[in-house]
Amino acid sequence: MFCHAVAPLLAKHRGLEDLHSRITAFLDSRLPTPLTEDDPRPDWLTLRREAAQAGLTGLDVASSGAPWQSGRVAQGLAMFLAGRRDCDARELFSSGHGAMALRHGTPDVVRQVRERVVVEGQLAGVASSEPHSGSDLGGLRTVALDHGDHLVLSGTKGLISRVEEATGFVVFCKIVEPGAAETRDLREVPLSAVWLPMDATGVLTETTVPLGMRGWSFGHLHLVDVRLGKDCLLAAPGDGRRIFDTHFSAWRVMMALVCLGAADAAITESAARAQARSVGRSSLASIPSVAARLGAAAAEIEAATAWCFSLLERIDQDDIDVPGCSAAKAFATDAAFRAVDLALQLHGSEGYTSRTPMEKRLRDIRGLRIADGPNDTLYSVLAHSLMTRTSGRTAQSGVLTPR
Ligand SMILES: Cc1cc2nc3c(=O)[nH]c(=O)nc-3n(C[C@H](O)[C@H](O)[C@H](O)COP(=O)(O)OP(=O)(O)OC[C@H]3O[C@@H](n4cnc5c(N)ncnc54)[C@H](O)[C@@H]3O)c2cc1C
Repeated sequence: MFCHAVAPLLAKHRGLEDLHSRITAFLDSRLPTPLTEDDPRPDWLTLRREAAQAGLTGLDVASSGAPWQSGRVAQGLAMFLAGRRDCDARELFSSGHGAMALRHGTPDVVRQVRERVVVEGQLAGVASSEPHSGSDLGGLRTVALDHGDHLVLSGTKGLISRVEEATGFVVFCKIVEPGAAETRDLREVPLSAVWLPMDATGVLTETTVPLGMRGWSFGHLHLVDVRLGKDCLLAAPGDGRRIFDTHFSAWRVMMALVCLGAADAAITESAARAQARSVGRSSLASIPSVAARLGAAAAEIEAATAWCFSLLERIDQDDIDVPGCSAAKAFATDAAFRAVDLALQLHGSEGYTSRTPMEKRLRDIRGLRIADGPNDTLYSVLAHSLMTRTSGRTAQSGVLTPR
């Protein structure tokens, strides 16, 4: 492994070296080399089921008997290692979005999700975005009509991942009284979250072809008067925003680490090619500008990886830095994109074909600069928190009155 940020992490956390060995062995036996678009597409769901049998789907949630400490650092390591083989391998390990149901669900939902997602290795998705409103959570229009003993869910979600593979979705919606959906300003209604099993009546799917991340389906979920028991509600009505922020702070860092793993592999492959490739009488690697650009890309990947793991260590201590996690995802995916673009360049015309992993990595990482919050939005989360802090400090010193 090229990235230096990982080695001290393994030394620091109990059992992590063991987890590293298990995941590496798992990947070596199934995805021994990074995937190219020309390779046959792996049966990802079967691989995930095998990961479940190997005990690798519950590593982010409390599980008994694991030699490693379960938690976000363990999950982050799995994501980084998965990304080194392929960005689509991100779905193989951990409970994924099922973690929201496991952390906030009623006992029945927790039992069902644990059985399906952790034990059997099925997949859980998240349905937040809607066609008219992806980055603006307040603008969501999917409603759950409250009929006392049950909810009726209606709306359209998309574009979202895993519509064909997921066994269930955590759906973000607004809970309102029957008849109030047309008359109330839905922006005023706080967000709630429900667990939606995909075998519920009234769930329709529609897929489309994305630029990258094609290992898993992508499309719309149409929810047509889907009846759900009240026990499908996660936490209390109106708790959706808290569930979203807590989960996505960690999840964004996970997606950052998938891309950093891909970039780390791309840099390693480029360094090897630059050494082996002759240009005139010397190697490509001996050209100072090539070495400098490769070094600069590696430095960004190192820094972003160290930042991501430090955020995950804090999350494992119940210290969630929402602005930090948001900006780290944006910075890491942007840095990974730049690194892979350089790697593609250093592979010359071969890099511009589907025979090397570079073009697939580029397309996959491109998607993660939009998914889970567009990077522009995520950088501004950090900026706003800095400005709030600055205006607070200035106000204390009596120079400015806070608004
Ligand atoms: C590969 C992929 C997988 C996805 N998977 C899922 C999933 O599983 N579940 C799910 O719920 N959603 C998923 N999404 C949807 C994703 O979360 C949304 O696309 C994203 O939040 C942006 O919303 P939007 O597409 O409506 O873009 P818009 O909200 O229309 O924004 C378009 C662009 O405008 C800019 N912009 C918007 N708001 C701001 C702002 N406040 N500040 C600065 N710039 C801004 C950004 O550049 C942004 O990219 C996925 C998207 C992709 C690409």
